[in-house]
Amino acid sequence: MVSNSSEVRVRFAPSPTGYLHVGGARTVLFNWLYAKNKGGKLILRIEDTDQERSTREHEQMQIDDIKWLGFDYAEGPDVGGPHAPYRQSERLHIYAKYAKELIDTNRAYSCFCTDEELTMKREAAMKNGTIPQYDGKCAKLSKDEVAKRLASGEKATVRFRAPVRDYTLHDEVRGDVTFQANMVGDFIVLRQDGMPVYNFCCVVDDHLMNITHVLRAEEHLSNTVRQMMLYETFGWQLPVFAHCSLILGADRSKLSKRHGATSVHQYAEEGFLRDALINFLVLLGWSSPEHQEIMTREQMIAQFTLDRLNKAPSVFDQVKLRWMNGEYIKAAPIADITAKAIPFMKKAGLPIEGKDPKWVEQAFDTIRGHLGPLEE
Ligand code: GLU
Repeated sequence: MVSNSSEVRVRFAPSPTGYLHVGGARTVLFNWLYAKNKGGKLILRIEDTDQERSTREHEQMQIDDIKWLGFDYAEGPDVGGPHAPYRQSERLHIYAKYAKELIDTNRAYSCFCTDEELTMKREAAMKNGTIPQYDGKCAKLSKDEVAKRLASGEKATVRFRAPVRDYTLHDEVRGDVTFQANMVGDFIVLRQDGMPVYNFCCVVDDHLMNITHVLRAEEHLSNTVRQMMLYETFGWQLPVFAHCSLILGADRSKLSKRHGATSVHQYAEEGFLRDALINFLVLLGWSSPEHQEIMTREQMIAQFTLDRLNKAPSVFDQVKLRWMNGEYIKAAPIADITAKAIPFMKKAGLPIEGKDPKWVEQAFDTIRGHLGPLEE
């Protein structure tokens, strides 16, 4: 494969621990739009190193939802690609190699502190009102001592020596964000069982997969300082970062199940049309230059630029989503939308069995102006 160094490469990197939620759907939408706008590529990477919570079923469900939304990706676990494998659980040898490189160059060390010990220290720090941070107990162990303890079967994590200095991130959404020195202490990159942690795999993979732009949710902003440290240590070029604004519920607290459906799957089941859902999602944290509300995919692709991403949190307004869905139902060709509505009519027990399809279409046409989701 010919590599084109100016090609935009973005990724969606879900953890397969549940259905695709609307926040994830917005993230993959923004990445997809950006790739399309730039003639670049979207990569799907499955971040499944949390083995207790990750399942193949959830991975498949998320892929199905991404496909239902109509987002195609150039590389991923089910389509392959030049940087395969795209599932982090299948890349453990790669992370082990880079962790070893950090140890060999003394930028990471073996840490023998137990979970109990660390928890106790963390709780004590919190009680004293100080930021809980690793105290460096194992940072100065001699090579001989480490070798002896490892040989005797003692388990160790690999802990990265976090440089003590300020880091300033230039974020496309948030502008310059400075992380003060000492905000993070030496952090774990490999757990005792050899499993790598998110910040480490994310950097290794984004680098190896030639990711040029990282568009993700604001909740990852605080992780970025750890990631910047790793980029710097390996001498790798930082991608462009854009942390998209928080999505809030109607009461302005962070969107959660309390606010109603949060999974794409559930919206689909209730009879929200994918184009309506996408149109609604694109306006959460982004706006078109003409402040258009109803937009086709083509219009979104043509207009999607990072400078129109919005810093302010956006509200997931169910009323607006229902209105928007209604608009899409009204505008759809009657045969198409009736075909989509028929399963809902059957489920509701409406007597349409054996009826002339034209009659069903006409009947649906008389009511479609009053609907939110098709379920109604
Ligand atoms: N696996 C992370 C998540 O699902 C991805 C974070 C990132 O995009 O870097 O939130």
